[in-house]
Parts: sequence; structure tokens; C-alpha cells
Amino acid sequence: MNLILLGAPGAGKGTQAEKICERLSIPAVSTGNILREAMANGTEMGLKAKSFIDAGQLVPDEVVIGIINDRLKEDDCKNGFILDGFPRTIPQAEALDRMNVRIDRVIDIEVPDEKIASRLSGRRVCLKCGATYHTEFKKPKAEGICDVCGDNLVQRKDDMPETVLDRLKTYHEQTEPLKDFYEKKGILHIVEGQKNVEDTTALTFKALED
Ligand code: AMP
Repeated sequence: MNLILLGAPGAGKGTQAEKICERLSIPAVSTGNILREAMANGTEMGLKAKSFIDAGQLVPDEVVIGIINDRLKEDDCKNGFILDGFPRTIPQAEALDRMNVRIDRVIDIEVPDEKIASRLSGRRVCLKCGATYHTEFKKPKAEGICDVCGDNLVQRKDDMPETVLDRLKTYHEQTEPLKDFYEKKGILHIVEGQKNVEDTTALTFKALED
């Protein structure tokens, strides 16, 4: 199955992508993780992306379209994939259409803006493997350590309160119109994000079957 996960920053796309990945044994492809890895490795793409990411803005379309074009050609995507954080603009969605990639379902995880700030301020991530945690809702087994790879967990710079408002504004202006885009194609499924991850996951799995 070829899936897209939509939703505001902090809605829990990354966590749901991990759950679907385990259940369906298909890779989760996160443009955010790919860009953060490029930043950590100091590549040209990473350096180019950094100023946009740190300011809570979107990286230019051509950069992320190029990333996805290359990534979806890899062997592990042959039997399906989950796109987490792409597309984020209408031109990106149109570029995906032009890649002749069939999308089966788009799952939009809805969380009201007023709940986003507290979700993001407690979020901790592993920069090595991309796993995400929350200080209250999804604690790692050992504080500050990634369950998956044992690396240290950090708070993303763009999860700081001053950047979150910019990211939400960007989301409403540029990404939210994608709901309409995919609704018109008849493949949009809405999941109301719940306080407990397990409850959201149950709704996500239901949306895969409906
Ligand atoms: P995420 O981890 O998905 O929240 O992404 C973190 C940041 O990476 C975003 O705030 C953007 O600056 C950038 N980014 C990730 N995916 C995209 C995308 N599809 N288009 C543009 N920028 C992106």
C-alpha cells in the first residue's frame, strides 16, 4: 500500500508512520528525517535546508521533490511506502502525480492548534534513527536514551515555542489545502488525534481498512 500521512507539526505523523511501518512492513519515508540527517552530516543539501528549518519555514519544493524522486526508486519502496511529511504544498503533490506514483490512501491526523504547542514542547527525537518520544505521552524506557538505537534524545530546535507558531502558520497556509486536493481524489481519511498514542493508532489502523 502506498500511503501519505498528513497533519500539522506535532500531530503525531512520525509515530503513526512507525506503527504502520511495523504492521505493514513497508518503509516510512520522512523528508524531515532525511533533511535532519543531511544537516547532521553537513552535506550541501543539509546546509541549504538549515536556515529554512530553523526558521520554521518550508524547504524549497525542488529540494524535497528531488529527495522523494530518488528515495521512491529504491528497492525497499517496491511493495509500498508511507510518506511522512511529504507532500507539504500543492506543487509537491502535483510533482508526485507526475512521478506516476499511485497513492492508495491519505491519512490526515487532526489535532487542534491549541494542543500542538504542548505536544511539541515535550517532544524528544533521536537524530540517529529518527524515532520520536514525548516526555509525558511516549516516554523512552531509559530517560533521554533512544529505545531503538541507544543514542541520546534531543529537543529539536524548531520545536521551541518561538518557532512553533511560524510552523503552524506555514501549515495552515501551504499544507492544509492538500486535504481538499486529496478529498477530490476520494482517498482522504481523517483521524482525530487522541491524547494516548495507542488510541490514535487504533483509529489509524481502522482508516487503513475502511
Ligand atoms: P518534520 O520533521 O516533518 O516536521 O520536518 C521538519 C522541517 O523540515 C519542516 O518544518 C520543514 O522546514 C522541512 N521539511 C520537511 N518536509 C518538507 C517538505 N515536504 N517540504 C518542505 N519542507 C519540508
